[in-house]
Amino acid sequence: MPHTDILGFENTSGLYAATDKSEFLDHKWQDKNSVFRIDQLEAALGNVAPESFVNEMREGLKKVGMSIRLNPYILDLIDWRNAESDPIRRQFLPMLSELEEDHPCTSVDSLDERKTSPAPNLIHRYPDKVLFLVTSVCPVYCQYCTRSYAVGQATESLQKDTVTSASGWLAALNYIRSNPSIEDVVVSGGDIARLKPANIKLIGHALLDIEHVRRIRFATKSVSVQPMKFLSDDPWYEAINEVAQRGRSLFKSVFVHTHFNHPREVTPLVEKAMRRLFSDGIHVRNQAVLLRGVNDNPSTMIELIKKLSAVNIQPYYVYSCDMVMGTEHFRVPVSDMQMLEREVRGATAGFNTPLFIVDTPGGGGKRDVHSFEYQNSKFGATGYRSPSVDRNRMYFYFDPLRTLDPAARAEWRAPGGRDAILARLPSVLPTAKPSVMAAE
Ligand SMILES: *Cc1c(COP(=O)(O)O)cnc(C)c1O
Ligand code: SF4
Repeated sequence: MPHTDILGFENTSGLYAATDKSEFLDHKWQDKNSVFRIDQLEAALGNVAPESFVNEMREGLKKVGMSIRLNPYILDLIDWRNAESDPIRRQFLPMLSELEEDHPCTSVDSLDERKTSPAPNLIHRYPDKVLFLVTSVCPVYCQYCTRSYAVGQATESLQKDTVTSASGWLAALNYIRSNPSIEDVVVSGGDIARLKPANIKLIGHALLDIEHVRRIRFATKSVSVQPMKFLSDDPWYEAINEVAQRGRSLFKSVFVHTHFNHPREVTPLVEKAMRRLFSDGIHVRNQAVLLRGVNDNPSTMIELIKKLSAVNIQPYYVYSCDMVMGTEHFRVPVSDMQMLEREVRGATAGFNTPLFIVDTPGGGGKRDVHSFEYQNSKFGATGYRSPSVDRNRMYFYFDPLRTLDPAARAEWRAPGGRDAILARLPSVLPTAKPSVMAAE
């Protein structure tokens, strides 16, 4: 059975051609047939991917911080005849030859989330909003995951923090309850696609019961990677819908935040899922990540934004790729991000134009890519201030080493080089005026 009406194109690699359509459209079948290990992946792929390519993946997986988890739907979205350059493959399966040495400022918890955690599974960085990490599993695992310190299985290169249990939720809920300044709660992880319907209701209703909580966002990548979840898992869908409708009756917003990065991911099946959400009045926003080789050119980014808009998903953010382990090959310099923003703005409605964000390492939070106050082009350092987090500190994002000149790259890599470079950057700016410094 060709899956053209599900995927929007005919995948001639023929994976799952023999699978019954009703099975393919069942979220449980998708979960059951997901692959977690390279040998399962090899078995699922049969001979659609060349042996050399499978070897590349096996070696690549030994080096990275994220384990793999892929379902048949995503495996079927990959064009296996062009697997090396395929933008879907690139997001979920690492190849040894594409990996680059980590930037010396890379860390496993680039956003310093673990330092701003007042209760288990809760990040409180901004005055009126919190991030509530309710699970550490997702329906698929992305190689560039920001939260690779916790999300997914341990890999050969990275052990994981343990996140979350029902008792952990109670402490987080108590913290939110006792802090009237918190109006906005992002329920994330991990992915709420992995929560039982009863737990979605438990968390959703508990939050709605707190008078000062005005806005709830349920974060799930399943809209993009497992859209059948919205169509075949009625109890799960109805749990979200119940919380959303009760929220509406209380004049509070309950939205879904999701994560698409490439226009091919906006399939006919996604449209079907969106028709259900839209007809129930549940608004969906997208948070994309800017990834080299996936969506780092204007035409792809514009196509993504227009396709999302066409299915009533509002493009909200495009993030810089965080400086976490094993992501150097995905990162682009700040100047590329600014170029993309310029190209995209005006291509469609303003309310469907995402904000391009640098989530600053060290916990400065999200900053408009254009709003930097310091730049050192030799070392690829861009400085942002973030008054709502810490008005006296400057936060830096660093361009990938591949984009610097060889001398600067060598300085970064030399013993003690990193600390010497960091010592030369201003930690605080005397004024709030932009001061762009030329390379020394
Ligand atoms: C991203 C984030 C939020 C939500 O921020 P918005 O800009 O409102 O989407 C809240 N808390 C933390 C810690 C975050 O990283
Ligand atoms: S869906 Fe989100 S939390 Fe899960 S692996 Fe991908 S980026 Fe990480």
